[in-house]
Amino acid sequence: MTYFYGVRKKKNIILEDLLVENYAAEGKSLARRDGKVVFIENVVPGDVVDVRLSKNKKDWAEGYPVEFRSYSTERVTPFCQHFGVCGGCQWQMLPYQKQLQYKQQQVLDNLTRIGKIDLPQMEPIAGAPQDRFYRNKLEYTFSTKEYTAVAPPRKIRTEEGLTIMPEKPPPANVLGFHARGFFDKIVNIEKCWLQEDLTNHLRNSIREFALANHFSFYDFREHRGMLRNLQVRLCTTGEVMVNLVLGEDHEKRRNRILEFIDQQFPELTTLLYTINLKKNDSLFDLDPIVYKGKGFVIEQLEDFRFKIGPKSFFQTNTKQAEKLYSITREYAELDGSQVVYDLYCGTGSIGIFCSSKAKKIIGVELIEAAVKDAGENALLNNIPHASFFTGDVTDVCNNEFFAAHGRPDVIITDPPRAGMHEKLVLKILEMEAPVVVYVSCNPATQARDLALLDAKYEVTRCQPVDMFPHTHHIENVVQLKIKKQ
Ligand code: SAH
Repeated sequence: MTYFYGVRKKKNIILEDLLVENYAAEGKSLARRDGKVVFIENVVPGDVVDVRLSKNKKDWAEGYPVEFRSYSTERVTPFCQHFGVCGGCQWQMLPYQKQLQYKQQQVLDNLTRIGKIDLPQMEPIAGAPQDRFYRNKLEYTFSTKEYTAVAPPRKIRTEEGLTIMPEKPPPANVLGFHARGFFDKIVNIEKCWLQEDLTNHLRNSIREFALANHFSFYDFREHRGMLRNLQVRLCTTGEVMVNLVLGEDHEKRRNRILEFIDQQFPELTTLLYTINLKKNDSLFDLDPIVYKGKGFVIEQLEDFRFKIGPKSFFQTNTKQAEKLYSITREYAELDGSQVVYDLYCGTGSIGIFCSSKAKKIIGVELIEAAVKDAGENALLNNIPHASFFTGDVTDVCNNEFFAAHGRPDVIITDPPRAGMHEKLVLKILEMEAPVVVYVSCNPATQARDLALLDAKYEVTRCQPVDMFPHTHHIENVVQLKIKKQ
């Protein structure tokens, strides 16, 4: 007996000869066909491509290129050997200046089209002076499954001309980054340009040592294997922290590999390991254990020092964080007399950065561990006039809270990608702080929130900052001032 399943066969639609017109958002570009906008990944304006559609709606469609008829003259050769296979740095085919131009345009489009905001002349995007080696934190993953661009052959032709179907391929045992869209497949990285070569040597020698000494790599489906993750943090102070995450608790073998790392890399100032016997990768509920060193590193922005532990949050591009924070501080227009609220404060870095010109800093943050770090950072920098509070900003920032800590003269807000909750926006409107500085990592939600703030505020300054060269991520800082009645 055969069953009939009501599954509609997916239509295989290919649009031929599309000219990519412009950059759209989230790394995609757009073309048009018969009045329909087609969003395409992995192409740049000027490419002419055949596109297979993955989504097809009435007014728009989404797809990916199956054939390049001609390449855009804007393209340059990507400098990384893993480009196109690795999930990171997807814009390397565009010259850096072009990337900056698209980011600037993206902010302008979002703020004027979605937000319908009257903008002052935008300041030109602050590009990164160093578009390589810019990340202070990297996390590599060990896996038994390698992701390669080309599928391994299913048949092998031997010298005698026989064709043999190989047995199940042996585990690949790789160490690198997750392939985009796969939870278990890892791109084996030989050289990554996101951190100086110390990290490349470290990763490659740990992999070599592990393979030579038969350490097991983590199997994501079976949930077993000793080596899981390798986290590396390089600070501008020269301090280096490594945390090796292990999926098995074997003291002897653990000590063997940690000893190897310690002896081969005396430049590490802190070496830790974390035992993770859970099925997921998150570390928040685990305790990293110090093998060598003080267990944290010190990073420095201007003269401010920040203590960063293996689980602490810190902006990943140190030099550009300094730039972002100094623009934020400039926009806050502080003269020493103001009460400043630092909403979504993380580990308190913006507030601390502004502290020498503020009467008082009040930070609010959801994650308790980050608030603890913020308190320690305030102590470390000798800032007694900063206090940090744990909780959801929409709950914490009520009338009693503002009454207890003082009417805000300046509100700095730095929400995650989702932007601010409407309740918080309404509260900010109610509090009428003369100056609001809105730092955003998503211009679309920032535009939505600015449209609401427009009831009482005008945008007086605006400058995007590039924290992540060769990716489509954008950071934008906006200064708002209360409208004169
Ligand atoms: N300003 C900080 C962190 C910005 S990232 C810095 O520059 O380093 C955004 C922060 O908002 C994160 O630390 C996140 O934990 C916090 N967060 C997210 N939702 C929140 C909420 N509803 N209330 C308070 N904090 C929140």
